[in-house]
Amino acid sequence: MKVAIIGGGAAGFFSALSVKEHHPEAEVILFEKSQELLSKVRISGGGRCNVTNALSSISAFSKSYPRGAKFLKKAFQIFNNQDSIQWFESRGVPLKVEPDGRMFPISNKSESIVECLMNEAKKLGVQIEMGVSVGNIQPNQEQIEIDFIRGKEKPELFDRVIVASGGSPRRKGLEWLEELGHQIEEPVPSLFTFNMPKEDVVSLMGVSVQDVAVSIQGSKYRSSGPLLITHWGMSGPAILKLSAFAARELALRHYTFKAQISWIGFINQEEVLAELQKKVTAEPTKTCLKAKPFDFPQRFWAYLLHRCNLPENQLWGELGKKKLDKLISVLSNDIYEVQGKTTFKEEFVTCGGLALTEVDANMQSRRVSGLYFAGEILDIDGITGGFNFQAAWTTGYIAGQLKS
Ligand SMILES: Cc1cc2nc3c(=O)[nH]c(=O)nc-3n(C[C@H](O)[C@H](O)[C@H](O)COP(=O)(O)OP(=O)(O)OC[C@H]3O[C@@H](n4cnc5c(N)ncnc54)[C@H](O)[C@@H]3O)c2cc1C
Repeated sequence: MKVAIIGGGAAGFFSALSVKEHHPEAEVILFEKSQELLSKVRISGGGRCNVTNALSSISAFSKSYPRGAKFLKKAFQIFNNQDSIQWFESRGVPLKVEPDGRMFPISNKSESIVECLMNEAKKLGVQIEMGVSVGNIQPNQEQIEIDFIRGKEKPELFDRVIVASGGSPRRKGLEWLEELGHQIEEPVPSLFTFNMPKEDVVSLMGVSVQDVAVSIQGSKYRSSGPLLITHWGMSGPAILKLSAFAARELALRHYTFKAQISWIGFINQEEVLAELQKKVTAEPTKTCLKAKPFDFPQRFWAYLLHRCNLPENQLWGELGKKKLDKLISVLSNDIYEVQGKTTFKEEFVTCGGLALTEVDANMQSRRVSGLYFAGEILDIDGITGGFNFQAAWTTGYIAGQLKS
């Protein structure tokens, strides 16, 4: 059996290794258009590679995917994060968990993952052809023919083909799959930060607030977690998560919308009032600036008070109802104008790609028999935290089984 893998990224390598594991006699040839293999793995997680996440329940794990949650929930029954951990550890790459659940190689070097995958490919006899760009594929009787744009003169026939060519930022990049009858979900970016050119909050760049709740005005999208103020707007897990879940909605709005922020998480206004009233009663002669009601960085608290037009010497005891209401509103429903987005350099993915209705549970195309898909080419994307690589390992492993 002759098997072609298109793409030398995380999903392509994992597919190739899985084919060799399940069909040792198969001839596996991996085509990579660039001169570098596993380039995203190498730069991922700031050079440390966030391989997967430690979340223990499959159900909770699946909820980290704005697109593909239901599909992956089933796929994780076959290969999940525990399998990935075991896979790498049994091949000499122990992993560690960070407090937020992200998992990295103990070496803190993505090179450990790259070397492991490359060594394994060499050991199992995966043939790798670099600088070879696949242009088209088409069924040819029982086989699949591959045409090349670069790197090879003549078309070649294969018994099975796994497409692992990654996300495409533009629909044009997916036309070759559309021509085979596959439905494509329009690609739009996911995982980005919010630009706020008109807001003076950017003067606080570098400040992070631990437990905020953010929502998009006029939509059902909301998220929570730490938020980081940057010199162009806002970033951090709460913002990135929101950008992922609302990726399509925000693209439709051309990234111009209002973000509503509760700086104290999902807490209602009565609870905020109760907290503030404790200060009014217990510390009436202290200034609001000095006696903080919540655990904010001092600079940030001073900024919020300024946003409420409260003077630095404002005493808790002299805060009338009007000022108290204003403080509650800024704390729990602060509104910022977002105009534009910035790519999150640490990790970005594409929302959209090959519609999941086009593949069966074996990752095989419902249009072309013998054709399989793995990785970000599929309409699957996760939030940050190792979820995107886990999707690549899982779909790559399953595709490589070449089940029908
Ligand atoms: C900067 C950055 C950091 C990231 N960090 C993390 C992280 O720490 N943890 C995490 O979980 N996720 C991370 N991600 C996301 C993760 O890298 C991707 O989801 C994952 O790499 C997708 O794997 P893939 O194999 O499907 O696609 P890719 O890694 O994009 O690989 C596809 C490969 O196919 C090749 N190719 C494309 N078209 C053709 C063709 N026609 N012929 C031949 N070859 C072709 C491409 O050149 C490429 O090498 C990061 C992403 C970025 C951009």
